[in-house]
Amino acid sequence: MSRDPRYDILFEPVKIGPVTTKNRFFQVPHCNGMGYRDATALATMRAIKAEGGWGVVCTEQVEIHPTGDIAPFIELRIWDDQDLPMLARIADAVKSKGALAGLQLAHNSMNAPNLYSREIPLGPMDLPVYSYFSDPVQVRAMDKEDIRNFRKWHRDAAIRAKRAGFNLIYVYAGKLFGLPMYFLSRRFNQRTDEYGGSLENRARFLKELIEDTKDAVGDTCAVPCRISVDEMVGDEGIHAAEAQDIIGHLAELPDLWDLTLSGWEYDSQTSRFAEEGYQLPFIRGIKQLTTKPVVSVGRYTSPDLMVKLVRDGVIDLIGAARPSIADPYLPKKIEEGRIEDIRECIGCNMCVAGDFTMTPSRCTQNPSFGDEWRRGWHPETIRSVKTDTKVLVVGAGPAGLEAAMMLGRRGVEVALAEKGEPGGRVLREARLPGLSAWKRVADYRLGQLQRVTNVTLYRDSALTADDILGFGFAHVAIATGSAWRTDGVGRRLLRPAPLEGADVLSPDDLMAGKRPKHRNVVIFDDDHYYMGGVLAELLVKEGFEVSVVTPAAEVSTWMRMTMEQLFVQHRLVNLGVKIISHHHLLRADAAGVTYACGFTGKETTIEGCSLVPVTARLPHNSAGRELLARRDEWSAAGIKSVTIIGDALAPGTIAAAVWAGRRYAEEFDADEGPVPKDMRREVTGLAEGPFYWDRTAPAAT
Ligand code: ADP
Ligand code: SF4
Repeated sequence: MSRDPRYDILFEPVKIGPVTTKNRFFQVPHCNGMGYRDATALATMRAIKAEGGWGVVCTEQVEIHPTGDIAPFIELRIWDDQDLPMLARIADAVKSKGALAGLQLAHNSMNAPNLYSREIPLGPMDLPVYSYFSDPVQVRAMDKEDIRNFRKWHRDAAIRAKRAGFNLIYVYAGKLFGLPMYFLSRRFNQRTDEYGGSLENRARFLKELIEDTKDAVGDTCAVPCRISVDEMVGDEGIHAAEAQDIIGHLAELPDLWDLTLSGWEYDSQTSRFAEEGYQLPFIRGIKQLTTKPVVSVGRYTSPDLMVKLVRDGVIDLIGAARPSIADPYLPKKIEEGRIEDIRECIGCNMCVAGDFTMTPSRCTQNPSFGDEWRRGWHPETIRSVKTDTKVLVVGAGPAGLEAAMMLGRRGVEVALAEKGEPGGRVLREARLPGLSAWKRVADYRLGQLQRVTNVTLYRDSALTADDILGFGFAHVAIATGSAWRTDGVGRRLLRPAPLEGADVLSPDDLMAGKRPKHRNVVIFDDDHYYMGGVLAELLVKEGFEVSVVTPAAEVSTWMRMTMEQLFVQHRLVNLGVKIISHHHLLRADAAGVTYACGFTGKETTIEGCSLVPVTARLPHNSAGRELLARRDEWSAAGIKSVTIIGDALAPGTIAAAVWAGRRYAEEFDADEGPVPKDMRREVTGLAEGPFYWDRTAPAAT
């Protein structure tokens, strides 16, 4: 297949200062929870994106100095020459696959508590750090000497980045991560010297850094400037109109403008809260202020929209972080006319959670993400199978669909049996408010299955252990999902709550269309991810009076990891949902629902009230368990293995279910040949001595 000429414009080269990118696909800097701890895993992940056709592939933020240390978050560092081999590995890997390698120099300023380095943070003013954990640390206002020193550190880091082999070296003034942004913002910069006050003064520091960087490395490296065009706090901070003045003022200085919103939670909003291209109102018109190319993100997965944005003169380069994570091969698929093969990002921010949990990021749509080097998984390909083994996959939710699709790519004969309609939990959950994009998890896999002949999907096929024993498949994967509990057991309650006579509905009941008997509803949320909040939204919009009772300090507290907690609470409060934190369910009956304060034990009863416990789930795996118990019948039935996967093994996220499906496809034939079953890891090299214990004892005085 060849590409549709409508998309030719996306494959035009674009000059960025002294370098030229081969096309308009630009993987902007994004974190990934790997950083300096998992350097080769990170380099492999970036290289695969280059292989997938991205013209530019950038690093995440790279800390230039110990005074800008964002620990415990794990990014990259360029503090001194010791960091160069690791950075060079990334640059080399990216360039070897035909892309330009970009590096984002960063100093986290007010966002850097310096917990690792113990240095005093630096910023425009004496203020507490603006860090994620509100650490008890204050920033020191930089004086002129600090500014001179900083400019030298930045310049030195830029020279090191060039030595490491990078083609684009960023100056970072965005997303409350880059120090120059704190100088630009009126709320953080109330200085009275030539670095504060007027727009020219607040922009002076950024101007100097861009000039220094261009002077240091601009002969061969492009110098992009990443800047925030709105802090989303109105007149208090940078807003779209002022951003236009700032960019107009510095218009021709950098080689590229990379436009973002601030903070990160606004720049990377989920599909529940923002549409594809939601940044557009903030960036329109900026390109007309400069002759330099402009890049911006917007969770773009539609090539038609990409073409329109370029043709309309909004951006020159299609910026992507999440779409490049969900599908590292997105450009190549457009180039090869395989639009229907694009694995579209669902906008769930599971990848972002990797950064917040400081672990290698995972992706709901792309289970190989973060495991490219560790497990040798590739987003598109998988080694073919050596035997003509037949596999039965029972259950076509995310786990079963992924397993069947990847087994199909391996060349295995697969029967995929599904009790009802394929899609499993994503079909149900995608009907909840704001989650419609999640259906892409099933749609992509079903679309792929239609194009292979070796995987057969059987609908309306509820299988029992007897059925499975009767079929004679050599390998059986049980991916039959899970069901929400209705007895209140979860984290807070480890034994069932007394609920006799109460009107109790599980999340599954609500998703199946059942509704509470009473107008008052208590959602007992002891799960802390999206389900409690999203059901509250569903019911309140239908006219129910909803109270969310949670033992946590805030509703949907784990959604801090996906940067959505703030948006969930904002939405629920505005819809009139009552949030009762630090409380837990005690009991319910025909009269009402009673909950108690976690500190005082004080009880409150809401009379005439239904209950929705969002607590734990139980694996739905009776057929699998029965098969495991009847192992003595396997050989007569021709069965070699039975494996329970996904939610049927232990209920978890959709990302975990998809990953489990992939793992099954990779490892089901572990006994039949070498497989990269064991996870590889990189161990920090040990420093050379002399050490304390080698020293001779000091002479007694
Ligand atoms: P996961 O997230 O692990 O993929 P899901 O709950 O999304 O789990 O999907 C499980 C799927 O398995 C559902 O579509 C369900 O209808 C199907 N299923 C459950 N039991 C059986 C069975 N005995 N035979 C066939 N399909 C089943
Ligand atoms: Fe998109 Fe979710 Fe994958 Fe992140 S984890 S890239 S938001 S699908």
